[in-house]
Amino acid sequence: MNETLLKVDNLVTHFSIRGKPIPAVRGVSLEVKKGKTLVVLGESGSGKSVMLRSILRILPKETVTSGQVLYNGEELLHKSEKEMQRIRGSQIAMVFQDSLSALDPLYRVGEQIGECMRDHGTAAKGTIRGKVTELLTKVGIPSPETRMRAYPFEMSGGMRQRSVIGMSLANTPQLLLADEPTTALDVTIQAQILTLFKQIQREYGMTVILVTHDIGVAIEMADEIAVMYAGKIVEYGDVSQVLGSPAHPYTKGLIEATPRPGQREELTAIPGQPPSIANMPAGCAFAERCRWATERCRAEQPEYISIGGGHYSACHLTESSTA
Ligand code: SF4
Repeated sequence: MNETLLKVDNLVTHFSIRGKPIPAVRGVSLEVKKGKTLVVLGESGSGKSVMLRSILRILPKETVTSGQVLYNGEELLHKSEKEMQRIRGSQIAMVFQDSLSALDPLYRVGEQIGECMRDHGTAAKGTIRGKVTELLTKVGIPSPETRMRAYPFEMSGGMRQRSVIGMSLANTPQLLLADEPTTALDVTIQAQILTLFKQIQREYGMTVILVTHDIGVAIEMADEIAVMYAGKIVEYGDVSQVLGSPAHPYTKGLIEATPRPGQREELTAIPGQPPSIANMPAGCAFAERCRWATERCRAEQPEYISIGGGHYSACHLTESSTA
C-alpha cells in the first residue's frame, strides 16, 4: 500500500493574542501513506499538538490556519463546520493524552461509545449495545458488559485510555490522530497501550499520526518520523534514517538526552529552552541552544536539505556537509 491518505502543505497556524498574530505552526509539510504511522517527535511547546488540532480543525475560533490539508484528495481547510463534524469521529478520529477530560464524567462509558455510532448513523439502534461490547472486548477491557456501565471516574487510567481508543474506533476511521496517548500512564500500561495500537492498526489497516516527546515510543511505533521544533519540522525521514543517522543538531540532542539500555554515562540534556512563539528569532530557531551555531544561523533561516532516500534536514550544517 503506497497511496497517500493525508498530505499537508505549508500549514501555518496563528493564535491571536490581544489582536497580534502569534505563530504556533510555521509552515509544516508532511505526507502519510495509507496504513502507515508517522510519529511527530519533539519537546513540549514545539507545536505538535496544535498541528494535529489544525488538521482536524478543533482549535479556538480566533485561530487562523492557512496552507493545504488534503485528506483523500479533499481539502479539509475549505470544508464547512457541518462537513467537518461528519468527518470527525467517523473518517478521522483523535485520541487525547488525558482520557479523563476526553470522556464526559456524567455519562457511562458504554453510552458515550454508543453515542458516537448514533451521531454518525453507523449502527442500527438494536445493534449498538452488542457493538459497544465487541469494541470494549477488542481493546482489552475485561467483563465488558459490566464495564460499559461504569462512569469514567470508576475506571483506572489504563482502562479509561482503552475506552477512549475503543470510542475512537467506533466508526472505523481511516485516520487516527493520537496526541501523546500514553504520556499519562505508567510504563507497564504504556507498553500495553502501544501494543494495542499496533494490533488495531493491523486489523483495521488504519493510518496513524502519533505525537510524542518520547523517543522510545517513536522507535516502537514509527514508520516515518517528523522531528518538530518551534513550530517547524526540522528533520524528516524513516525511523532508521532519523534515529539511526540523525542529521539535525536538535534530533542529535534529543537522542543524547535519552537513556539507552545498560547506559552508564551521564545523559547530556539540550541546554536552554525553546524560544517563545511570541518572539521567534530571525534565523534558525534552535541557534541559542545549538553548539554548532554560527553568525549565519542567527541571521538566516535554514531551508530543507535532501540527504537522500526521503531524508531531509533543515540545518545550514547539513547544507555544508552535502555541498
Ligand atoms: Fe544549529 Fe545552525 Fe543547524 Fe540551526 S542551522 S541547527 S543553529 S547548525
